[in-house]
Amino acid sequence: MIENEHQLDVPRFSDLPLRDELLREVEELGYQHPSPIQAQSIAPLVEGRDLLGQAATGTGKTAAFALPMLERLAQQRPEQSRGDAPFGLVLAPTRELALQVAEAVTRYGRGLRARVVTVYGGAPVGPQWRALQQGVDIVVATPGRAIDLLNRGALRLDELETVVLDEADEMLDMGFVEDIETLLDATPDTRQAVLFSATMPRRIETLAQKYLREPVTVRIRREAVPEGEAPKVRQTAYLVPRSHTTAALGRVLEAERPTAAIVFCRTRLDVDAVTETLTARGLRAEALHGGMDQEHRTRVVERLRSGRTELLVATDVAARGLDIDLLTHVVNHDVPQSSEAYVHRIGRVGRAGREGVAITLVPPAKVHAMRAVERLTGQPIEFAPVPTAADLRAARLERTSVALRERLVEDLRGDLLDEESGDGVREMLAGLTAEFDPVDVAAAAVRLLQVATGAPDDAEDIPVVTPRSGERREPRGRGGAAGTRPPKAGTTRLFVNAGRSSGVRPQDIVGALANESSLSGRDIGAIQIHERHALVEIPEHAADDVLRSLRGGTTLKGRRTNIRRDRGFATAGRGRRD
Ligand code: AMP
Repeated sequence: MIENEHQLDVPRFSDLPLRDELLREVEELGYQHPSPIQAQSIAPLVEGRDLLGQAATGTGKTAAFALPMLERLAQQRPEQSRGDAPFGLVLAPTRELALQVAEAVTRYGRGLRARVVTVYGGAPVGPQWRALQQGVDIVVATPGRAIDLLNRGALRLDELETVVLDEADEMLDMGFVEDIETLLDATPDTRQAVLFSATMPRRIETLAQKYLREPVTVRIRREAVPEGEAPKVRQTAYLVPRSHTTAALGRVLEAERPTAAIVFCRTRLDVDAVTETLTARGLRAEALHGGMDQEHRTRVVERLRSGRTELLVATDVAARGLDIDLLTHVVNHDVPQSSEAYVHRIGRVGRAGREGVAITLVPPAKVHAMRAVERLTGQPIEFAPVPTAADLRAARLERTSVALRERLVEDLRGDLLDEESGDGVREMLAGLTAEFDPVDVAAAAVRLLQVATGAPDDAEDIPVVTPRSGERREPRGRGGAAGTRPPKAGTTRLFVNAGRSSGVRPQDIVGALANESSLSGRDIGAIQIHERHALVEIPEHAADDVLRSLRGGTTLKGRRTNIRRDRGFATAGRGRRD
């Protein structure tokens, strides 16, 4: 029967070479089928093979190495014959990850009564030292503290049978390469070595070549989460001059309204500045610093979980090891140093098939870095225009209008009660409306409300830039009135009859003009994208030529589009809403 045939394809834990004590724990945890990485890694690892695995958090990689390690422990060292020296060592980049892994190993190894000890920096060494002295089967450690305990003679690696490097790329990024090599060199030649990494930069390959023997290689894309659903991460980039990054971020986040986001910044100073800007916009943002103790970090994460905070602003280092399942957005205030770092960051969303959003603010000089990410992941990153001040004002008014309407409907329903509510609001208004126009009174009330709720006026112009031609500045003035300003001297303005609603972006216009006329990207000046039209400045002397070449129209975003001289009737406020 078809159904049965299909079921034969689905791997089962009971087909894996794992003993009942382990299968029982897995079943109790509710795992129904091995995830792809588990299906591919467990059997060769139980056989004793070395393994090089490319897999991110969320793929089930912890069980993929922990279950075989426990199986081999049971095979080689039955409980009664266990000594003091550890059988297995797992190295992890951070305390948080080490604790998580240790918790998982302890849980999976419950039926086997495996003794698991976690050692990590930033905590007193004494208790960890004593725990190791009492006899241990599996040590989960961060590299620095492992070296420390090795040097003190507390961590014995001479009887080790298996070593796992978890998130090896992170460990190398954190500068642990020497520690890792020292630790690996201290293990017996006969031990099994397993290396897991979310990305495979050359340095990882070199490490693998040096320490792994004929490894089985397993590569799991993020999509292969245990639940079997592909995670969806919408990746959007906003092109802005570096000097306007923070202002643009405020606008993007206000428009996007994430439920729970991490905003990554390059430096601690940036973290503080960004937190301040976002807070001033009325967004609930909190800084997460590397120097915070564990308890403080836990509290901050708890506030995010409970919805009391919506944004955590952090550096990569401060956010290391944070594992927040409910995260909806990863926001890059700065383009990460490498494509691998980008992939790591966005790996925090879109888990278990949930939707996730990755937002990156990109200065023109870094567009190539985003293209490199696209090549690495094979997934497109969309460039979108930063919401204009007018867009945000319109959205805010819309929200106010919805709230007022709801309130009015409620009040009407309970009008009798309201008459008698005795709060004096109506009486106060009666006084004001005797003196002023009621609409003016209401308008003033709405403005006061906006001030009270911290709505910014977004007076700062955020210039529209294009990837090819570098930064360009809009003429001074408020965003919403862009179309009414005269073009810069020596330039003329062209009117394009397609805009944001057709998905037109500055780079599309640059592309069309540069492809179909004699203009090069450098000649093209400020570009303003409005809802249904766009304005672009070009040198006056080139205008006739350009218009001649474009006489038959051009194609933008797959749509026939006309370009002509702007006659100045593109007015402020046209098509403000997205
Ligand atoms: P990891 O990638 O190891 O961080 O695991 C991600 C999450 O998936 C953890 O919460 C595991 O408990 C869970 N998990 C691991 N293996 C499976 C499985 N086969 N079925 C369901 N959930 C799993």
